[in-house]
Amino acid sequence: MWLFLFILAVVIFLVLWWIYRRQVIKPLRRALGHSRLLAEGKISEGYVVSGIPEIHDLVNDLQKIDQRVRQLSSYMRVEEFSLKTILASMVEGVIVTDTDSVIQMANRAFAQMFRLERDPVKRPLMDVLLQPDIKAIIDQALKTERESSGEVLIEDLLDQQQRRVFQVSASPLGEPGEGPKGVVVVFHDISRIKQLEDLRREFVANVSHELRTPLAIFHGYLETILENAELPTDEVQRVLRVMKRHSDRLNDLVVDLLTLSRLESGQIKMDYVDLNVFPMLERLKADWAGLFEKKKCRLVLSCPVPLPTIEADTLRVEQVFYNLLENALKYSDDGKEIEVGGIHEEGSKYVNFYVKDYGTGIPSDKVDQIFQRFYRVDRARSRDKGGTGLGLAIVKHIVQLHGGKVWAESALGKGTTVWFQMPTSRLELDSVWPGSEDPARQPNSPEVRSL
Ligand code: ADP
Repeated sequence: MWLFLFILAVVIFLVLWWIYRRQVIKPLRRALGHSRLLAEGKISEGYVVSGIPEIHDLVNDLQKIDQRVRQLSSYMRVEEFSLKTILASMVEGVIVTDTDSVIQMANRAFAQMFRLERDPVKRPLMDVLLQPDIKAIIDQALKTERESSGEVLIEDLLDQQQRRVFQVSASPLGEPGEGPKGVVVVFHDISRIKQLEDLRREFVANVSHELRTPLAIFHGYLETILENAELPTDEVQRVLRVMKRHSDRLNDLVVDLLTLSRLESGQIKMDYVDLNVFPMLERLKADWAGLFEKKKCRLVLSCPVPLPTIEADTLRVEQVFYNLLENALKYSDDGKEIEVGGIHEEGSKYVNFYVKDYGTGIPSDKVDQIFQRFYRVDRARSRDKGGTGLGLAIVKHIVQLHGGKVWAESALGKGTTVWFQMPTSRLELDSVWPGSEDPARQPNSPEVRSL
């Protein structure tokens, strides 16, 4: 009997132990395992269901926490990916610094902007850029807990000629009132905008200067006439002739300015045709015969080999030759020869044209500058000869619009050759202007200045 009771007790104990292990210990161990995995940020694989309600609830809650963590980490991955993609595709340089100005994150544009060879992350900003002005903007943002910004001028170390200007904005990170946790700094390269602003200022100053002289002359002479009612007719005639010359110059200046502004704004419609330049040059020679005769100069056309046609706007190319011939004649002494020609090498996609004179020439250090607006080697001489200082800038724009280039060779006292190269067919230019409603292309257009 005692033996039976003992065996029964052992069996009951074993059954209870088995149930306890299966329903309590095992689920608890699994739950513990899952909670450890969760704590380590790893993903758990599934849960054991327990018959005991409290343990069942505990396992259930753990399961929900697990799902939530998975959801959150998936959101975070998406957010991180989007943030990285946005930062990588930005043209602005972006960095995040901590409160000690140590860089914690930097995008690709930042490294490219400052040509960094090493990863800037985990390095103090001052080691990376050595720019106290930028540090000052960041410190200001940290101190005031508000956005701080400013323009910073950086001299390019690699290219001493190049100065770059950045708009730098620093915004503190963190909740207001809790003290900043760091700073987001955005760098916007505004060098080009600054350069254009400088050019515009310089241009306005140049135009005002050009207009002032003829206007002052008009004013002075008009006063002379008004105050001297008895002025002899000869003197009045002389004064009127001077005024006429200056009004012509004013007119030339306005025409050139209009042409240039149209060319630069891209508003000009180009009428491309396959242009045979040699017959055009023969026509120009005939048109210019009177002016050449006046200066006892000789115009020679030279095309050693037949030239292929170029895809170009006839009136614009004519204007290029007009401006170059005008200069060649203007800066040559009487009796000199002027040569106009074209050269084409077999198989080349370009034709090189030139206008060569044996005139005053240009100092070698100034040759590259003559294509700039209002640049003159000798201001007084150019003005005396009725120059506006815009003729070669117009030439350069027209040639570039065709996908070509222009340059000059000169020797002081010996003469000048201005070259321009034109493609035989238009290269991959992105601006195409079909049609020809532009009044400037009519033969009598004031834009093609009569000489
Ligand atoms: P401008 O109306 O003053 O001639 P351009 O733009 O045509 O203006 O030329 C700019 C400057 O380049 C001129 O003022 C002149 O100093 C110089 N230049 C241009 N062509 C010649 C040339 N053929 N010979 C000498 N100097 C030239």
